[in-house]
Amino acid sequence: MDVILPVADASFGSTCVARGARLSRLVTGLTWAEGPAYSAAERALYFSDVDGDTLHRWSASQGDSVVRSPSRFANGNTIDLEGRLVTCEQGPRRVVRADGDGEVAVLADRFDGQRLNSPNDVVVRSDGTVWFTDPDYGIISDAQGSVADPELDGCYVFRLDPGSGELDVVATDLQKPNGLAFSTDESVLYVTDSAVTHDRDGAHHIRAYDVVDGRWLADSRVLREISPGWPDGLRVDVEDRIWAAAGDGVHCLAPDGTLLGKILVPETVANCEFGGPSGDQLFITATSSLYVITLVAGGALMR
Ligand code: MG
Repeated sequence: MDVILPVADASFGSTCVARGARLSRLVTGLTWAEGPAYSAAERALYFSDVDGDTLHRWSASQGDSVVRSPSRFANGNTIDLEGRLVTCEQGPRRVVRADGDGEVAVLADRFDGQRLNSPNDVVVRSDGTVWFTDPDYGIISDAQGSVADPELDGCYVFRLDPGSGELDVVATDLQKPNGLAFSTDESVLYVTDSAVTHDRDGAHHIRAYDVVDGRWLADSRVLREISPGWPDGLRVDVEDRIWAAAGDGVHCLAPDGTLLGKILVPETVANCEFGGPSGDQLFITATSSLYVITLVAGGALMR
């Protein structure tokens, strides 16, 4: 079966995906693969098996290894400006940064004295600020955390200044905010809402926001509804195309939300990430497996 499905762009298979590219499975046997983050310095991909409570590291030379077990139900990961791994931990309901020697520094675990719900995904802006989503997946079941009453009155998107420790709510209009990514010039933030996972009338769309002064969000709008399934993690390539997880694979959107084409994946996709020596490989975390396929353009941010 061909895994490349053009939609609005008939040439998707050659303009967006490398001609003749194939989907390869790198790792399998996972429970819920998520949170891929590529370290350019290490030439390695970190990713989480959320339900498996492990953090993995994969490289072409060394293959797959478990680097944290338990991972405290780690979910989303990213690499900061200094090449350090930043991780959302759903168990202790916090965002942490690896500080060497196996230690982690807690970046955020409370807002206004109240515990976060369960941070899900995270991205670092070029000014060093840390933006993350805080849906309730880690406290509504024990599968990805532990059941608890929420302390906050909603599920928000946050911006953290790790220098000052200042934590701000930047978006309140999502039901279950999930994946997030900036446009290449960081003037737009895309955030997915996956509320349909627990409410069949819930949201399953990508929102776009204008970033104001690098601090606030304005002009919230639905960029596109995603189906089948729901959007989870997403990434933006150097051409400003959006690559978003969906029920049948990875959907590639133009900045205006037009669905250019899909990469069909045989398992439900949770997230994706650019990496590889040239940055043009798309790593895909999909339920029990990690896949990779080669694209034409790479990611906007490679650290
Ligand atoms: Mg997610």
